[in-house]
Amino acid sequence: MLVGANVGSPADATSAAAEGADLVGLVRTEFLFLDRAAAPDVDEQEAAYRALAIALGGKRMTLRTIDVGGDKPLPYLPLPAEANPFLGLRGIRLAAAFPELLADQLLAAVRVAHDAPISVMFPMVTTLDELVVARRALDAAIAREGRGTPPGLEVGIMVEVPAAALKAAAFVPHVDFFSIGTNDLTQYALAAERGNPAVAAVADPLDPGVLRLVDSVCRAAGERVLVAVCGEAAADPLAARLLVGLGVRELSVAAPAVAGVKQVVREVDAAQAANQAAAALTATGPAEVRRADAVQARPELRTPADSSSS
Ligand code: PEP
Ligand code: MG
Repeated sequence: MLVGANVGSPADATSAAAEGADLVGLVRTEFLFLDRAAAPDVDEQEAAYRALAIALGGKRMTLRTIDVGGDKPLPYLPLPAEANPFLGLRGIRLAAAFPELLADQLLAAVRVAHDAPISVMFPMVTTLDELVVARRALDAAIAREGRGTPPGLEVGIMVEVPAAALKAAAFVPHVDFFSIGTNDLTQYALAAERGNPAVAAVADPLDPGVLRLVDSVCRAAGERVLVAVCGEAAADPLAARLLVGLGVRELSVAAPAVAGVKQVVREVDAAQAANQAAAALTATGPAEVRRADAVQARPELRTPADSSSS
């Protein structure tokens, strides 16, 4: 079981290393693109990714390609105003609409990948066509650099769209890993906008509907394709246990949470976690998932109702 850190700045990479993360499971590369008048060029991006790799001292780093949209406008991209930016031109859709942006980013990633273990990850993938186009862009970047495929380069997608989770098998031949973004997957599965306090109670990653999507990804992935989770849910001890029980093999969390998650996964009993996860998939809601966990930890809490529902 791997425990990684999520990184959204150069300082985060230093913290990831200091906290003993096994790897960086998510670099939110947006930090390089926001709040400026022009996009960073290939050299600037290469220098930034190289600095992160150096801070990580040889540990793998998962570079997510630019994941912005109408909710985080970039002054140098002519983006249309959208009524529902979370459902609009964002993530890989935006990269496909501005191919030179993706091409430059991938070239910078490929250059660094010749010297450090790099995974490239595409965000918000919904259709196989999007992945095929993105992989072609990566192949073009490798050809543009002209030194062959970097030896440690791995390629994956974020699974954040419910349809992608349900048809994960279609992506399997084209990826080395899936990384489930539970922040977005939860908002899309439950139609509850992330960060909106009015619907925060609905947007619960322990909702069995969300867990079933995670289960779908794990079952499609098989042995070869690693399934990670890099959403905030991975830092919650109960969610972490359930994710392990469903077959997730890497959890990536904010650097300060790494040690705690390592402790949680060290204490997981695999068979018990698998049983608990299987029960959670058919629970009536997140409250029942939490209650079953509380009863498992403290059997004296058990009531006749618990016996009849288990
Ligand atoms: C996610 O959606 O769970 C995720 C990790 O990506 P972000 O929070 O950057 O959208
Ligand atoms: Mg996301």
